[in-house]
Amino acid sequence: MKTLVIEDSKSSLKLLCEHVKRMGNTPIPAATGTAGIELFLMERPDLVLLDIIMPDINGYDVARQIRQLEAPGDWTPIIFLSSLNKDKDIEMGIAAGGDDFLLKPISEIVLASKICAMQRIIQMRESLLVLTRKLDIANQELKRITSLDGLTGIANRRHFDEVLVREWRRAMRQGEELSILMCDIDFFKQYNDSCGHQSGDECLRLIAQTLTSSMDRGGDLLARYGGEEFVAVLPGTSLIGASFVAAQMRKAINKLAIPHPNSPYGHITASFGIASAVAMPETDPQKIVGAADRALYKAKHSGRNRVFQTSSLEPEDN
Ligand code: GH3
Ligand code: MG
Ligand code: MG
Ligand code: MG
Repeated sequence: MKTLVIEDSKSSLKLLCEHVKRMGNTPIPAATGTAGIELFLMERPDLVLLDIIMPDINGYDVARQIRQLEAPGDWTPIIFLSSLNKDKDIEMGIAAGGDDFLLKPISEIVLASKICAMQRIIQMRESLLVLTRKLDIANQELKRITSLDGLTGIANRRHFDEVLVREWRRAMRQGEELSILMCDIDFFKQYNDSCGHQSGDECLRLIAQTLTSSMDRGGDLLARYGGEEFVAVLPGTSLIGASFVAAQMRKAINKLAIPHPNSPYGHITASFGIASAVAMPETDPQKIVGAADRALYKAKHSGRNRVFQTSSLEPEDN
């Protein structure tokens, strides 16, 4: 353990350094407060033994400066060594950032015991820091897992909702448009019924991958919205841009040519609904999701395997 000893009396400094050495620690001697602060920065000691009455800077100020030099979360124990023995002196020492106060003349046994106690605190603190780091990593992993859909590995609905709010706020700040794309696999119940649930799961995974590959912008996010429905948020994208993405997706799914015995198309297809809006504070972004869902409904009812779009956020009266 590197121990910085700041003491202006030459004889005391020598004696203290000898004590420290006998305890198996490495002493770093400093004969003035200024030298002590410089050595603190250069050597980064594990412990500081600090005199109070010194000609250049007093020990209280040295302690204050050391505390300011420490990085956030860092802590180096400071033990004051002084012949000042009033309650007020101890109070000032602790208030200046000291951790303990030892009266001169220093007993080697008491000094060794105090250093031993400080070492115990340092070790406990280090294990706590290691534990906190592990906990941080575990929390990050937990956050990642809770934002993913277990079957397809893409984002889940909860994560989509969070991203939508975030992207909507960003779009508002930048006065941009945002598009929502909804995708629903056609006749999927029949696919499950005829090909089995496991093939259904495999199909969902494949579709998720295919949809992901059809998006190429960094800010785009695809999520599983529910059962066989997917949703994408496309920030900074107009209805024209979104319809281009949806067309790519629809084509890519057709190209997979997953056989579907009960579909009029003979293979797996999907329908798409898209909606866009310029972000405004008074608009709830979930309204665009609703509009995309209505467009999807129209795509379904006009024959499936197609893309429908809307720029109206309100349901039409009919
Ligand atoms: P449409 O063309 O109108 O969309 O008809 P559809 O059969 O696709 O829609 P419907 O809502 O009637 O059925 C959706 C089906 O999706 C029901 C269920 O069997 C299937 N499904 C939902 N989630 C899963 C899943 O996690 N795995 C599997 N294998 N199937 C699922
Ligand atoms: Mg002194
Ligand atoms: Mg559905
Ligand atoms: Mg469906």
